[in-house]
Formats: sequence, structure tokens, C-alpha cells
Amino acid sequence: MAAEITRFAPSPTGLLHAGHAMSARFAFEAADVASGGRFLLRIEDIDRSRCRPAFEAAIYEDLAWLGLRWETPVRRQSEHFAQYQAALADLEKRRLLYPCFCTRADLQREIAGAASAPHLPLTGSEGAIYPGTCRALSAVEGAQKKRDGIPYALRLRMDDALKAAGSLTWTDAVRGPQAATPDIFGDIVLGRKDIPASYHLACTLDDALQGVTLVTRGEDLFAATHIHRLLQALFDLPTPRYAHHSLITDAAGKKFSKRDNAVTLRALREGGATPADIMALAAK
Ligand code: GLU
Repeated sequence: MAAEITRFAPSPTGLLHAGHAMSARFAFEAADVASGGRFLLRIEDIDRSRCRPAFEAAIYEDLAWLGLRWETPVRRQSEHFAQYQAALADLEKRRLLYPCFCTRADLQREIAGAASAPHLPLTGSEGAIYPGTCRALSAVEGAQKKRDGIPYALRLRMDDALKAAGSLTWTDAVRGPQAATPDIFGDIVLGRKDIPASYHLACTLDDALQGVTLVTRGEDLFAATHIHRLLQALFDLPTPRYAHHSLITDAAGKKFSKRDNAVTLRALREGGATPADIMALAAK
């Protein structure tokens, strides 16, 4: 196995469960620290309303208990909003972003009313493809709404971004060469209304900034890589290799969820499980 720079990038919005143990173990082993690789831990805590210090503390405790060792200092995304904002400003200058004032209710109405409602090819975080309502707002109209204090998100002009980027590929260690098709997501949000960043933006910038050579994560995030590949092209960043691993499931075949307290590493530990038991579960 070649030495790699890998990362485990949890969000402290709940306690880690066996699925996270698998993901962390996968990244740790892929790094092959004994051969000179590096294993990084990144705390993806841009959503301040959902993240809790106690969950972050539990991440360190659980990973250490599992026997994993990571480099310090740990990058905490909430400490780097200025960097994400600078990247957004760069895209704005290139006219690749536009402000979107739609509320959740507006979006639901628009999508429900559209003659051919777009179906969702997407990961959970994105929802339906944006119908483009605010794309056509003039600069004057947009500026007026901003002056009126209407909250807005920043969306990518997907068509223009694709033109700027050209055709893109990436390689997944499990599924092989991939053609990037970020257009399946439409005009994605890169700057949220409540946060001057988004998962896609912060994650892509940080993977490059931290020199990650192999991005490992669950296959539920496979489609997100289409977007990350596009952002790499727009920001002229290197493209790491990817390995999306399968997800472990409970006895009923359901993916582990942060909402399911019974399978948190803490509960398993308190129930007498050893790190070796968890790692055996994670190796399945
Ligand atoms: N923070 C994301 C999560 O907890 C993982 C992001 C990634 O590995 O790219 O699901």
C-alpha cells in the first residue's frame, strides 16, 4: 500500500457510531502512517446551529479509544470562514455566483408547481434541483433586495461554471474512472443563507489546502465528488484520488444514523465492547 495523506472529516452534530468507526479506520489504514503517510482529522463544524462542543470532545475521545492517532493541530472549519468567504468573493467577481432570495416555502411551491418536476438525482443535503427563479434577477433588483435585508444564499451558475471548467474526470479507487457530471445538481448553493460557506465549498478547499492525496468517505457521498471536481477546476486546485467505501448497516440492513443512540461508540463502549470488537465490526 502506498503512503497517502488521508483525512477523516466528521461533523460534531451527534455521537460517532460504528459507521464512523469504519470510515475513520478506512482512512487511517489507507494513510499507512508506518510508511510515511499522514492521517488527518478535520472537524466540519460550519453549521454552528447543529454542532456542539460536547460532540467534538466525544470525537477525540472515541477515536483515541479506538486506537487511532491523528496529526495535530486539527483543522476546525469554523475557524476559517474568512478563507471560504474569499473563495466565494473570487467566484462572484467572475460572475459565477448569484444571490438567491428564495425561502424553503418558495422552493417547495415552485417545484410542486413545475409541469415536469425534476426528480431528485441527489444526495440528501441538496434536495431538488433549483428551478432557477433568482438566476434572472438583474443586478439592480438583487442589490435592492439585499438593501431590504432579505436573506440570501449564493448559488453557482452551473452552465457558466461548466463552460469555464471544460470536461472533467476523476478516479474512484473502487468504481474506476469517472466523468464528472455536476450539472445533475443544477445551480447549487455554495454560500448558505445562515453560513458564509457550504459543505461542498469548505470540504473541497480544505482537502486541497491540507494536501490530501486520497479522499476516503462513504459511498453516500459519491455524487458529491462531481461537484468537488468542478470546484477544483474553478479554483485551479489539484484533484486527489477518491475511494468511496460501502456503508455498514444494522441487522435490518439500514444505514447507521446519528439519531440511533444504541449504536453510538459510547453506548457500545458502555455496554462492554472493546476497541477490537468495534474494529472487527468496522472491518466487515
Ligand atoms: N463532514 C461529512 C460528514 O460528516 C463528511 C465529509 C467528507 O468526508 O467529505 O458526513
